[in-house]
Amino acid sequence: MKNYIVFDLEWNQGEKTRDDELSDLPFEIVEIGAVKLNEQLEIIDTFSRLVKPQVYHEMHKITEKLIHLTMKDLEKGDIFIKVADDFLKWCGEDPAFCTWGPLDLPELQRNMEYYNMEPIADGPLPFFDVQKLFSLEYENGKLRRALEFAIDFKEIPKDQPFHRALSDAVYTARIFQGISERIRNNYSFDNYVTPKDKRQEIHIVFEKYAKYISREFDTREELLSDSEVMSTRCYICHKNIRRKIKWFSPNGGKYYIAVSYCNEHGYMKSKIRVKKSENDKLYVVKTSKFISEEDKNELKDKKERYKQRMKKIKK
Ligand SMILES: [Zn+2]
Repeated sequence: MKNYIVFDLEWNQGEKTRDDELSDLPFEIVEIGAVKLNEQLEIIDTFSRLVKPQVYHEMHKITEKLIHLTMKDLEKGDIFIKVADDFLKWCGEDPAFCTWGPLDLPELQRNMEYYNMEPIADGPLPFFDVQKLFSLEYENGKLRRALEFAIDFKEIPKDQPFHRALSDAVYTARIFQGISERIRNNYSFDNYVTPKDKRQEIHIVFEKYAKYISREFDTREELLSDSEVMSTRCYICHKNIRRKIKWFSPNGGKYYIAVSYCNEHGYMKSKIRVKKSENDKLYVVKTSKFISEEDKNELKDKKERYKQRMKKIKK
């Protein structure tokens, strides 16, 4: 039996200092709220706890306006280690985490690491980004809306205040309950812990695209010469297919694009994003999807324009 754990965190932050001494824990979690859903997506339990702050003892201006909590309230809470430990026990074996947007899981793990707690996962952690699923279900898949927008859109009664952990978790769960099973298959990965070796790398095929999360590399050169990173095999038939547009980066290395052609499945666009891991190494997220011939031609023009631009700069 799989449980879905829809959770939400509230956090406080410190004032920025010149030497950035706060970078170990820029955001201190002050509240954890969650609801547990069974496989039929019915709410079967809730979790709501305040955390007694140990790092920041004043409420940051931004936080104060947002979360409707005072330091006096938080003093009633338990310390983070206790709350996080109870929370993970409450989640049970192998929970499927759901959050509104991608920020809560890394923040939870960063706070846990700060207190030297056992990590939740030893590699990328699959989770449901309900904000993204909402966009895929009702909009274009790219827009990212505020939770309150989604609640208004679905005409769900706003009977609880926003920006408290439990009520935001309940609202998120209500949106999640309305997501169709087909859309729900588009789960995400949290890469707070990146793959350390080839064995842990992620290869996954979704309905409309495929995703690859690489292991860590020390340098960009190493990464860009790795055969798996740069490969553009057809993700349906796994054949090595001919490259029609060789890898290029239209924006100085933020991402790289290539297009290849499978006789059976058509034009496949691959996109590599180079990302920095928590421990300052590099890894890539590569997505591949099939595109039309027009899309392919547009990318070809884009590459041509980029080449011309570079020529001008060099002159
Ligand atoms: Zn193919």
